[in-house]
Parts: sequence; structure tokens; C-alpha cells
Amino acid sequence: MNWLTNWVRPKIKALVGEADVPDNLWHKCPSCGQMIFHRDLDAHINVCQHCGHHLRIPLAKRFEHLFDDGVYTKIELPRVKIDPLKFRDKKRYTDRLKEAQAKTDTGDAIVVAHGKIKGKPVVIAAFNFQFMGGSMGMAVGEGMLAASRLAVMQKAPLIAIPSSGGARMQEGILSLMQMPRTTIAVEEVKEAGLPYIVLMTDPTTGGVSASFAMLGDIHIAEPGAQIGFAGRRVIEQTVRETLPEGFQTAEYLLEHGMIDLVVPRSEQRETLANLIGLLMDGVKAIAPPPAQKAKDAAADLDIPTPEKPSTDGDKDAKADTKPAAKSDENSGEKSGAKSGAAPTE
Ligand SMILES: [Zn+2]
Repeated sequence: MNWLTNWVRPKIKALVGEADVPDNLWHKCPSCGQMIFHRDLDAHINVCQHCGHHLRIPLAKRFEHLFDDGVYTKIELPRVKIDPLKFRDKKRYTDRLKEAQAKTDTGDAIVVAHGKIKGKPVVIAAFNFQFMGGSMGMAVGEGMLAASRLAVMQKAPLIAIPSSGGARMQEGILSLMQMPRTTIAVEEVKEAGLPYIVLMTDPTTGGVSASFAMLGDIHIAEPGAQIGFAGRRVIEQTVRETLPEGFQTAEYLLEHGMIDLVVPRSEQRETLANLIGLLMDGVKAIAPPPAQKAKDAAADLDIPTPEKPSTDGDKDAKADTKPAAKSDENSGEKSGAKSGAAPTE
């Protein structure tokens, strides 16, 4: 029978050609356990059509969905010193990095891209969870800084999309230092009077949630996303109490006033465009200097302008303009969140 397997089978295979069937045609929903065909998954932007569970989504696909016509430009991020601690556990850190780079085709766990959402220019800094659990090391810190500076340069809002297990332990204290660094990065955007929006995806935990991810003007989360600092088990062991059901989910955080909105993936583009419109119009309102405005108004009324009241007006106007749009937005959301939280207390 040897000639059959050794000679005939290869001949037939050569004639028919290798079966070109990818092995991942079906995905199992981790929430309801139903099988989802890959085309359906694609059509629903990685959301289960049976139960609405939001599966993780590759970065490229997310960008294609968010940006107008799927058009965006990735920027090259500054290089950092690789493996300064010469860290090694089961594998060398440098080997882990190389593996992750080969698997994801990205330099590190963060990708910064700019483009337009409904005609409005934006800069997005998004995490790739496939890359070492989206952990934040020096490269991610540099990435956030680059993103914020690009946003300031383009006078565009910055949107951060974290998906991270926290700081990268292989970089020790250097990874923890990225918490203040990324905080300063988003501060630069705020100082320029530009909106900074965070779209939290599953999971947003550890050093990332303890720094820039919780500093947004508006916090949006994907349904069911895990958001917190330490994991459930660690907290339960520390406080010796059983934690409530749904603890650390996006919905729980919304109910308790930690985030502003939970938005399904299919509506995120629309929501972001609306928010940017509201917040950026606030920025535009600052454009004519308030002092000048007061003078113009005085000139219209033919009143000589005293210096002091105009500076007061300046202050008032400043207090009114930029934060106004934000506080309106927040108060609406927060009051909703509070009223939701009240019965539980
Ligand atoms: Zn499902």
C-alpha cells in the first residue's frame, strides 16, 4: 500500500491543489457559547449577534471602523532603549518582544494614528492587547507623548483607546514611571484647550487605569468591558469580603459615576463625532478674545471701557467658555449616573 500513500496521494494533491481553507472560520462566543461565522463576526465589528457580547477586535479593524472611509495615517513612534534591566523570567524579555512584534506586526503595544471622524480631525492612541497584554512600558509612554503632541500640533482632540493589563513588569520601575509621563502627556492636550476622550475597552486595568485612562474629559466604555485597578481575586483576598455581582464592569462603573457613557461598538463613531462637535465648538467660542469682545460690545454701545471690569469679564468669559461645554456634558451624564446609583446606597 506504500505506493498509494507515497506516490498516488502526492500526485492527486498536486492535481487538486492544497485545500485553501483557513482554520478559523468559526469563533465561539465567550459569553453565550454560540458559534459565530467569521463573516458575521466581521459584519458586526466583532460583536456576537446572539447575545451582544463585545469580543476583542484587532486594532486595524477598529481603526477602519472609526475613521472616515477607513482612511487613517499611522505615525512612527520614537524608539526607546530595549530591555534596560536585562530582564529574564522563563524567556528573555528581548525574545518576548520579538515574538510579540512578529505576531502583531507593530513595534509595541500602542499605535498612534490620525484621520477624520465625520469630517473632524482626530488623533487616536490605541492599545493592542495582542502585544504582551497591552502592557505599558517605555515605548507606550513615548507613544502617548507623541500622540498628545501631535494632537496639539494639529489642534485636534485626542482619543485614547486603552486595552491593557497594566504596567509591563519586565521594565520594572521604568514602566511605573510611565504613569506620571502619560499624565503629563494628556495634561499638554488639556492645556491647549483640546478635548481628551477615553474609550475604555476590555480590559482597562492596572497602571493604565491608574493614570491617563481615568483622566479623560469624557469617559466612554464598551459594554461589558472590565475596568479596574487590581483584579477581583486580589481585592477579595485583601479586603476579605465577597464583591458584588458585575463588579468592575463598564455598566457597574457607569452606575457608580466613574464613567460617563457605555456605548456599543456600532454607535461609537457617531458618539465620538457628536462629543467632538460639542467640545470643539466650545474651543471655537474662545477664539475671539473675550476682552476684545467686551470692547466691541462697549464700542457698539458707545461706552468708554474701564480696564478692571473688562478683565473681570475676561475671567468670567473664560470660566464660561471651555468648561461650559464639558460641564454641561458631564452634569447631564453624572446626574443620570447619580440617580442610577442612589437606590443602591
Ligand atoms: Zn454571544
